Amino acid sequence: MQKIIAANWKMYKDRSEAAQFAGELAEKLASKPAQGRLAIIFPPFTDIATASDGFAGISGLSIGGQNFYPEEQGAFTGEISLKMLRDAGASWALVGHSERRQIFGESDGLIARKTAFGLAHGFKIMLCIGETLAEREAGALEAVLDRQLESALNPLDAETRKGLPANLAIAYEPVWAIGTGKVAQSAEVLEAHAVVRTILGKVLGSDAKDVHILYGGSVKPGNAAELLALDNVDGLLVGGASLEAESFLKILEA
Ligand code: PEP
Repeated sequence: MQKIIAANWKMYKDRSEAAQFAGELAEKLASKPAQGRLAIIFPPFTDIATASDGFAGISGLSIGGQNFYPEEQGAFTGEISLKMLRDAGASWALVGHSERRQIFGESDGLIARKTAFGLAHGFKIMLCIGETLAEREAGALEAVLDRQLESALNPLDAETRKGLPANLAIAYEPVWAIGTGKVAQSAEVLEAHAVVRTILGKVLGSDAKDVHILYGGSVKPGNAAELLALDNVDGLLVGGASLEAESFLKILEA
């Protein structure tokens, strides 16, 4: 399976910074493409068109939106539609990031609506899941991952399910490891990814083996190779260390 290395820029970078990143990375990838890797960049909305232009002609690289509202258009002040994201150059969308769940109060119900709407409208969805430290310490890892995955995937209709392995990636991101510098231990990642694969099997049957499961949480150039070598780790979702082209490139080539 081709590994996915995804960059979540969160609320960082204006257009000139995005253009500079794209220029640096595109130049390096043009002379030495990352073998067998798909890079996905999730910039802030205002940078999507800039990033998309900056990466034009570079194969193995896609652009995504960090969020969207699951309606075609309408009176939804402050929100963005999939049509707008597509127009700017995005083909992927992040759904269920823990910062959306925790800071913006996104419920499993809204995340399920976004997942179904995005897939039905031809977007590739990166669905983020993960437990808090309190949930882990309470022994609720499996229950939390099960609830987050089943609530988002069970409602999908048969037609949508057919395209799933290609159109869906899961990002397992333990909340306690995001932006904290505290990367999960190999044994913890192995355990959680095996749990995710098992739950996917329950929901999707034999297609489950072909769905990418990414790890996210304080990934750095120094720990990327070790994480990518673990069973059921089909890629990485990178926040802080994706903000510099050089550091992201090292992870892409790890
Ligand atoms: C993230 O934002 O999804 C993330 C994993 O952030 P960081 O790499 O900074 O922990």
